[in-house]
Amino acid sequence: LIALLLSSSSDTRSVKPSPSNNSIEQKVDSVLALMRLNEKIGQLVQYSGGWDATGPTSSQGDQHKLEKLKRGEVGSMLNVTTVASIRETQKIIMDNSRLKIPLIFAYDVIHGYKTIFPIPLGESASWDLELMQKSAQISARESAASGLHWTFAPMIDVSRDARWGRVMEGAGEDPFLNSKIGVARIKGFQGDDLSSEFTIAACAKHFAGYGFGEAGRDYNTVNIGVHELHNTILPPFKAAAEAGVATFMNAFNDIDGIPATGHKELQRDLLKGEWQWNGLMVSDWGSIGEMIAHGYATDKKHAAEIALNAGSDMDMESYAYEAHLGTLLKENKISVDHLDDAVRRVLRLKFELGLFDDPYKYCDEEREKKEVYTPENLAFAREVAKKSIVLLKNDNKILPLSKDIKSIAVIGPLANDKDSPLGNWRGKGDYNSAVSLLEGVKGMVGKNTKIYYEKGIDLTIPTVEPGSNQFLHPLKFNTTDASGISAAVAAAKKADVVLLAIGENAYQTGEGRSQVNIGFAGLQNELLEAVYKANKNVVIVLMNGRPMDLSRASEIVPSILECWHLGSESGNAIADVLFGDYNPSGKLPVSFPYHVGQEPLYYNQKNTGRPYSPNHVTFSGYRDAPKGALYPFGFGLSYTTFEYSDIRLDQTEMAVNGDLKVSVDVKNTGDVEGEEVVQLYIRDMVGSLVRPIKELKGFEKINLKAGASQTVIFTINAELLQFYTANNTWEVEPGAFTVWIGGDSNTKLKTGFSVVE
Ligand code: BGC
Repeated sequence: LIALLLSSSSDTRSVKPSPSNNSIEQKVDSVLALMRLNEKIGQLVQYSGGWDATGPTSSQGDQHKLEKLKRGEVGSMLNVTTVASIRETQKIIMDNSRLKIPLIFAYDVIHGYKTIFPIPLGESASWDLELMQKSAQISARESAASGLHWTFAPMIDVSRDARWGRVMEGAGEDPFLNSKIGVARIKGFQGDDLSSEFTIAACAKHFAGYGFGEAGRDYNTVNIGVHELHNTILPPFKAAAEAGVATFMNAFNDIDGIPATGHKELQRDLLKGEWQWNGLMVSDWGSIGEMIAHGYATDKKHAAEIALNAGSDMDMESYAYEAHLGTLLKENKISVDHLDDAVRRVLRLKFELGLFDDPYKYCDEEREKKEVYTPENLAFAREVAKKSIVLLKNDNKILPLSKDIKSIAVIGPLANDKDSPLGNWRGKGDYNSAVSLLEGVKGMVGKNTKIYYEKGIDLTIPTVEPGSNQFLHPLKFNTTDASGISAAVAAAKKADVVLLAIGENAYQTGEGRSQVNIGFAGLQNELLEAVYKANKNVVIVLMNGRPMDLSRASEIVPSILECWHLGSESGNAIADVLFGDYNPSGKLPVSFPYHVGQEPLYYNQKNTGRPYSPNHVTFSGYRDAPKGALYPFGFGLSYTTFEYSDIRLDQTEMAVNGDLKVSVDVKNTGDVEGEEVVQLYIRDMVGSLVRPIKELKGFEKINLKAGASQTVIFTINAELLQFYTANNTWEVEPGAFTVWIGGDSNTKLKTGFSVVE
């Protein structure tokens, strides 16, 4: 019946999903009209499978899911991830259920499916939107070739606290950068036709505030005001909705007392109402049920009532909707309209994906073999990885190294680690499948270069079998066994230069991985000091998923290369930069502090009434540490140098709805070609609310040959200058603005203009 009603379509998804997409809307209506209550509720249920190898087991949980699948009372599955298990699971619905409404299969494809790209924070350091769009596109293509329809990415939570484990998953501390990168990733995943066999649905998460958990503790309370919410946290989500992201995910945290999952004002009124977004809102894992622990719902029934009324469409693993929506409807605690609206959103996505035309459309092992983890994809992963590296320090031009260098000591617990570079949330990336630093260096140097490798120390003591899911297991750092340090010292003594790979392993960041120590855990400081004592030519090859405290390291070593967790091609990409095949161009998307006590630390702060001044009797900073960053937002060095000059405006006054142009000349003053991220910042000098002292409002990555210059021009308009004002509306307030252009957020090159009525 369904098949007849819905015979094939060539509908494509418009960039902005719009209710006027008649043909899909008619089909949605026609299916809805056929549905019984249990089937409608079923569409709002999402289960985790985890049965790739076995199929549903005899466990009570799996049997329950199996029964529900047979009755067509499930809308989506996550964590069913092989073509075979996806086909089998889809078949349960197609062979048994009355209406045969296909499932959508979802998975956390965060920075690659099997070809692993740098962690999102690392990739964001490239400031290269096209590059990030393409890496998402490849991830989508690999996922789709493996049977998947939907990724829970990108995470666009602005995050400013290095203690939070999930800093690794986003684009850092700035709302503008998060918006641009979020949209690039969404376009990459979705393309402009969701029904294409190469694209998957994206998910803007976590709506909202999750990145602002107090003290960086995961899932924690968010206490911010409505203006901060609108000006800082929501802009990336607004941009994602406008870009036509197919789905949103809500969040675990409460905001000012209201759990995000039960937040009607945010989900139903703002996102679905004012912003007119008609995609699908999925809860976070169990977050509907967790409103009980929050003390916001008395029981699951109450939680289901709150969540559905607030606009959460799909229940991921709370089992609250399936158990209670029916009764809640009878008791008039939820309305048919709200229920139908939620079901429509699920059906709409299924039509857009083309699943009604072919529920098995992505189930093709042959295609999977051809398209996943290909040499081309890996080559692109290397490209992305090298562009994500940030050169933080390079005294005496110790880098780049000559390929004919006589000897190199490659030292450290992460130096030959083939797993950590894959980072957390590594999709189906195989354990130990990354190119290690040691391998990358060996592949780069000539026969005459001697390489001395010493691990020095183990970073952690294993608590689980290597390769098993470490998510639920505690990290145990090695704080006692320093027996390998003497060999590391001996290696350092023999070598011309030391590459010291230290930082964090893959499981120090990610969900549930907050830390109070953002320095070098275990015995890494001891290793650093001992090696440095033996040989001053140390390059720290830093691998990490969060801003770290590098104060001591940057005091002593001449060079620090920020290499994040760079993915499958990590070691090769690092070698490209170390030996000068690629001139580093990355810039930090997050501020690096002097000390963890400064967190949360971000450049776009507001002034107090007593701004920091060393002569002021009352410091608004600290007595025992600087106030600002050791390495500021936007910062990154190159093997060449860039000089900025002659910042100028085409007019000094701008009408509220007008625009103006600001230009700067950038010159490559060194002797090699290089790329530079030219950054535009503004300050609204006086506002109806206190405004940040600097805000990123534009950037452009340019390439300059040695000695060459370029004029870079930015257009400033109302869209960039408006903010959520004291009137609770988005407006440009007339008055004075300062504008800076430079190579990082500390740039001093500035001019000013006024906005007039
Ligand atoms: C995370 C989400 C993720 C989901 C499904 C949750 O714990 O917060 O970001 O998409 O699990 O794996």
